[in-house]
Amino acid sequence: MTTRIHRDPLGRFDVIYEPGMARTPLLGEAETPVRSDGEVPPCPFCRGSEQYCTFTIASSEGVDGWDVRVIPNRVPLFSIEGSTEGFPDGIYDTIEGVGAHEIAIDSPRHFDTPYDYTPSHWQKLLGVVVNRLSDLKQDSRFKYISYYRNYGSQAGAHLEHPHSQILALPFVPFEIRHRQNKFEDHMRSKERCFICDIIHHETSHGQRILTENESFLALAPYASRYPFEVHIYPREHREAFESTNREDLVLLSHILYECHQKLHISLSGPPLQMTLYNRPRKSGGFHWSLELVPLLLSTTAITMGTGVYVNPVTPEQVVAAMGSRSCEEIIENT
Ligand SMILES: [Zn+2]
Ligand SMILES: [Zn+2]
Repeated sequence: MTTRIHRDPLGRFDVIYEPGMARTPLLGEAETPVRSDGEVPPCPFCRGSEQYCTFTIASSEGVDGWDVRVIPNRVPLFSIEGSTEGFPDGIYDTIEGVGAHEIAIDSPRHFDTPYDYTPSHWQKLLGVVVNRLSDLKQDSRFKYISYYRNYGSQAGAHLEHPHSQILALPFVPFEIRHRQNKFEDHMRSKERCFICDIIHHETSHGQRILTENESFLALAPYASRYPFEVHIYPREHREAFESTNREDLVLLSHILYECHQKLHISLSGPPLQMTLYNRPRKSGGFHWSLELVPLLLSTTAITMGTGVYVNPVTPEQVVAAMGSRSCEEIIENT
């Protein structure tokens, strides 16, 4: 039975229903290998176990074989076949669950964490993601391509092997619509990009900047929902992540490496969610960002009920706690 999307009539969120599926997220992504000798089977995502997975959609090759590999999710949230035409149901809006669901196996090494990736490994991973987003955006049925990673079971990861997800959605989800509206309002009233204004303000003042290079900036945001939340922006106005050129991928890889090292040093490698906020397929007026959220606190009732977050650490304290060691210093000391 196909999934379907119900849009909240108050416009606050969207719900994906999977009728009849007692889904255990991500556990069905790959065939579980069966060993006749009773040994614990190998992880299907490890290098050397490729036969247990479905075909490879994209990869980045290293000297010993693949370093990053993208495969179809064996139990996808959406079906690839069908129409994405929405239809009314009385006062409600429903959309058929047509889309694509891919898994990026971030590393061939089972016990790697995002805190272990070198700048060159980040570059390979980001390069593969850029190519997948570019490819999926060619399909006019997919209105938004989401890229995200949960690291650690508290952050929602159900498989130990490091991986991230690429989800092509048949609709623009609430959070992105909300951001688009904010961009459009700001552009209409001030004729400037909202994020470019934030970058201008933060670089003028400097107290919430975690790290920066000539193309990217990492901030502890002014209104941080969670302790040690980090937002990464391209300094210049850049709407679509998949338009990032090779030189900027190198610089972004260094920023990501440095942010992860700072989180690792400050918090001993916390459970972490990383989400890309990117321009929808048919849209103008966006400025992409990558957001890192360490899962140190659970969401409280006040947040569920009011959208108010209680955060014990100010962004200025985060910058002070995460130190000012530069990327070069971190590389030299690892
Ligand atoms: Zn593995
Ligand atoms: Zn901008």
